[in-house]
Amino acid sequence: MFDSLQDRLQSAFKNLRGKGRLSEADIDATAREIRLALLDADVAVPVVRAFVGRIKERASGEEVSAALNPAQQVIKIVNEELIGILGGETRRIRFAKTPPTVIMLAGLQGAGKTTLAGKLARWLKEQGNSPLLVAADLQRPNAVNQLQVVGERAGVTVFAPEPGSTGAGDGGTEGTRSSGDPVQVARDGVAEARRSLHDVVIVDTAGRLGVDAELMQQASDIRDAVQPDEVLFVIDAMIGQDAVQVAQAFAEGVDFTGVVLSKLDGDARGGAALSIREVTGRPIMFASTGEQLTDFEVFHPDRMASRILDMGDMLTLIEQAEKVYDAEQAEKDAARLMGGQFTLADFLQQMEAMAKMGSMTKLMGMLPGMGQFKEQLANFDEREVDKLKAIIRSMTPAERDNPKIIDGSRRKRISAGSGTTVQDVNQLVTRFFEASKMMQQMAKGGGMPGMPGAMP
Ligand code: GDP
Repeated sequence: MFDSLQDRLQSAFKNLRGKGRLSEADIDATAREIRLALLDADVAVPVVRAFVGRIKERASGEEVSAALNPAQQVIKIVNEELIGILGGETRRIRFAKTPPTVIMLAGLQGAGKTTLAGKLARWLKEQGNSPLLVAADLQRPNAVNQLQVVGERAGVTVFAPEPGSTGAGDGGTEGTRSSGDPVQVARDGVAEARRSLHDVVIVDTAGRLGVDAELMQQASDIRDAVQPDEVLFVIDAMIGQDAVQVAQAFAEGVDFTGVVLSKLDGDARGGAALSIREVTGRPIMFASTGEQLTDFEVFHPDRMASRILDMGDMLTLIEQAEKVYDAEQAEKDAARLMGGQFTLADFLQQMEAMAKMGSMTKLMGMLPGMGQFKEQLANFDEREVDKLKAIIRSMTPAERDNPKIIDGSRRKRISAGSGTTVQDVNQLVTRFFEASKMMQQMAKGGGMPGMPGAMP
């Protein structure tokens, strides 16, 4: 899902990495690459234009120029804007105050409605609901049978017309084309749900191979007859650019309250996902990601954006860092560090700030690309950090400010106080001196250490 879009966006950001300041040319180049990446992923042109415009505007503003790390800030902006075009908040089903809640499915033939009906029913059942599936797709040969099979697999009751018994039949035979009036079937299905105390009704409707007036009329008629609480428009994400036109036609012809993207598991370039919300103003509510009943997810715009950006949970990490990291203090620390004034007290403070962000293992795990270091992460001993903190806490303020005064007897006292060995204390002090020396050399040589830090 979104593989090539992911790669393209990654390379768009690559040029920014390590830059302390972004020039107008940097921002233009990145914006151009993002534009091409989105167009290649089949995102609708007006959506691309608006999206890139917002990115450029924000990337040229204060929030980036004042950032500690401009590249990261740009990624953060792209992520926020992506979440925006994907719909912002997760949109959940709106249940009726008085059951049953009626959910109607609409979309082209082959979009994945019947499959989705089963997935949705199974998921609702898991949530503690008691759904009824209604087979109002009387157009496609075998659609009723298919829904019955799906319903059985999901363990959900299916309401289907008796062949040849309802309304104006069209002469079809069982197993090929079901007879009857789909509007009447839908109406009867809802009445049946009320009678048998199902709290949700999912009405599967007919599609056509293309958008046509008859199809829209039938869907509208069903809509009017059952007054659904939700009309879900199911769209095959693999149809690319066409998705937008089809969605617009359904928005005008039937209107819908939410979108389901199906076949997101295919090699879809993802354009439909990124365009549909902007173009129709309707939220994407679910994603269908395979032929199995379990291949179904609630659509979370924020998680989808993270996936598109291949960011792991980088954003949580950046946000957490922003919360505990005081930029002004960091600058002071950096200045002191350059002057060789960085002390063990500063070091302790830094470790405590890191601790506020979470465990070291968890922090590292949020970095993208850390999957390959799984084993090392699992072996990382959090207690090492605790030990360092305990040693520094057992020092007097004078010792923290000037570790040079820590002689043999002080080391003994510190180790006893912190429950560590004299060797542990020696190691910390030695490493601290080495790190300070290195920092001062870097300062003299003009090299600017990114973050003040004297990790031993
Ligand atoms: P309907 O005509 O809208 O009811 O569409 P169907 O539910 O019959 O789906 C059409 C075809 O797409 C079937 O072969 C399904 O197995 C397949 N399909 C549906 N949803 C998905 C999906 O999320 N991923 C994949 N790979 N195939 C799907």
